[in-house]
Amino acid sequence: MLIDIDAAKRGLDLAEAIVETVREPLVILNHNLKVVSANKAFYETFQATSQETEGRLIYDLGERQWDIPKLRELLDNILPANSTFRDFEVVHEFASVGRKVMLLNAREVFDANAQARTILLAIEDTTDRKRAEDMLKATNAELQNFAYALTHDLQEPVRMVVNFTQLLARENEGKLGEQSDKFIAYSVEGALRIEALLKALLNYWETTERGQGSFAAVDCNDVFAKTLENLQAVIAQSGAVVTSEPLPSVLADQVMLTQVFQNLIGNSIKYRGEQPPRIRIAAERNLEGWLFSVRDNGIGIDPQHAERIFGMFKRLHGPDTPGAGIGLALCKKVVERHGGRIWVESETGQGATFKFTIPVRNVPKNRIAGPAGDTRRR
Ligand code: ADP
Repeated sequence: MLIDIDAAKRGLDLAEAIVETVREPLVILNHNLKVVSANKAFYETFQATSQETEGRLIYDLGERQWDIPKLRELLDNILPANSTFRDFEVVHEFASVGRKVMLLNAREVFDANAQARTILLAIEDTTDRKRAEDMLKATNAELQNFAYALTHDLQEPVRMVVNFTQLLARENEGKLGEQSDKFIAYSVEGALRIEALLKALLNYWETTERGQGSFAAVDCNDVFAKTLENLQAVIAQSGAVVTSEPLPSVLADQVMLTQVFQNLIGNSIKYRGEQPPRIRIAAERNLEGWLFSVRDNGIGIDPQHAERIFGMFKRLHGPDTPGAGIGLALCKKVVERHGGRIWVESETGQGATFKFTIPVRNVPKNRIAGPAGDTRRR
C-alpha cells in the first residue's frame, strides 16, 4: 500500500493546529483508546502534562482518574455503534482537580493513512456554569416562596382595611362633609383593588405551581362545560353567546386548563365591543399537537401589543376596567408547562383570536419561572 507521507504529515499538522486552537479540552485517541495528543486546555483544566498523558490508555491517565464507568460505556459501546455522541453529562470527582461536571462530545473518524479509527473527544467543563445555574434556580425558588408568602399573608390585613373602611363609609355617610366621604370612598376602592390583586396573584401561584402528578387525560369538552358554569353570571349579564366545536382529550392538568379557558373566555366578554359578545372555541390537529383557538368579536388588540399582554401585570386598560393584568400571564405559564405556546391574532376593532397549542405527547415542564420568552413564534 502506498502512503503519501507528505499529505499525511500535512493532515496531521492541520489536525494538531485545530486541536490547539480550540478552547475546550480536547483529546485525540487512537483505535485502542490510547491518547495520541491532547490540547493545552486539557492539560490546564485537568492539571496534567503531555509526558504523562500521550501514549497512555485514557482510563489509565492520572492514576486511573479517567476510569469512569460512564466514559467506558460511551467509548466502548455507544461510540462504536453510532460513530458519534453529543452532550453526555458526566459528573466525576477527580483526585487532582475535585468535582467536575463535564459535557462529553465525541466523533470517530477513519484515518485513511493509519488505516484505523481515531477518536476526537471534546470535554466541556460546565462545572462553573452548572453551579451558577443551580444557584440561580435556588434564588428563583426562594424569591417565589417569598412572593407567595407575602401575597398569602397580606390577604388578612387587607381584608381588615376593606371591612373597616367600608364600615367607616357606612357609619359616617353625610356626617363628615362631602370631601371626607370622597376620601373614604377612594380608600375603599383602593383597598378593594389591592384585595383583588392579591386574590389574582394567589390564584396564579396556586395554579401554575401544581405538580406533575396532576397530568392526566382530560376531556376538553368537560373543561369547556366547567368554564361555562364558572362564568355563568358574567355570561348571563353580558348576553354573551359562547359556543364550541367538539373538543379533543389531551394530556393535561384539568384545573390549569380550566383556568386558561376561563381567562380567555372571561377576557372575550370583558373586552367586548358594541355587539353582544360572540365567542367560539375550536381545536384542530396539526404537527405540534392540538391547536386551540378562542375567537371573539370584541374590541380587538393593536398587533404592536400582541406580545406585551402576556407579561405579568401588563394591561392595555386603565383602572376603569377591572383587572390585575395577571390572566394572560397565567395562561402563558400554564400552556408552557404543558409544552405548548400561546399567542394572539388580532387587529384593533376586529375582534381577537387567542391560540394555544397542547402537544400530543407532551412532557410537562416543572420549571420555576424563567425570563419571559417569545410567545409568537410562528
Ligand atoms: P386583565 O384582563 O386583568 O387586564 P389579562 O392579562 O387577562 O389582564 O389581559 C391583559 C390585557 O390584554 C388586558 O388588559 C386587555 O387590554 C388585553 N386583552 C386581553 N384579552 C383581550 C381580548 N379578548 N380582547 C381585547 N383585549 C384583550
